[in-house]
Amino acid sequence: MLLWHARRRFCSNCGMPTVVSEAGWKRDCPSCKTMHFPRTDPVAIMLAINGDRCLLGRQARFGTGMWSCLAGFIEPGETIEDAVRRETFEEAGIVCGNVRYFASQPWPFPMSLMIGAHAQALSVDIKVDTSELEDARWFSRDEAAAMLMKTHTQGLSTPPPIAIAHHIIRAWVEGASVG
Ligand SMILES: [Zn+2]
Repeated sequence: MLLWHARRRFCSNCGMPTVVSEAGWKRDCPSCKTMHFPRTDPVAIMLAINGDRCLLGRQARFGTGMWSCLAGFIEPGETIEDAVRRETFEEAGIVCGNVRYFASQPWPFPMSLMIGAHAQALSVDIKVDTSELEDARWFSRDEAAAMLMKTHTQGLSTPPPIAIAHHIIRAWVEGASVG
């Protein structure tokens, strides 16, 4: 919220200075009367599943050995399901069918809402978009379980329980399906 106030000092409609109202949950433009509200940017974060394997990716900034769910911003006019399919295809070349919502996590750094889903992968040949990911590959259920528990023989791991990715992967390891 502090960041939002810092970045919304001027009206995006007319350019005049805005003022705080509603105890800081709104800013008003005294000049053109436009009301400005804090925004939340939705991000789809998903685990594509093909039989007994799941798709995980690595960003170059990740710590050594860590693999996670793919994710991306939901675009204007797009459903959560379409964003899951589009991002999985764009980042890894995998076509998805059924998408099932799992859970969400506010991620206000600065203003995202992570929307977690499981997706049914309809194709298996990975084509990594290297501008987004360092790598992407399939992991077996046993391997993913070991990564969650940090007992993987090669030291591979998933994000910790503070991240929704951990729970998306864990739910699948424990039996969640996408039909
Ligand atoms: Zn204005």
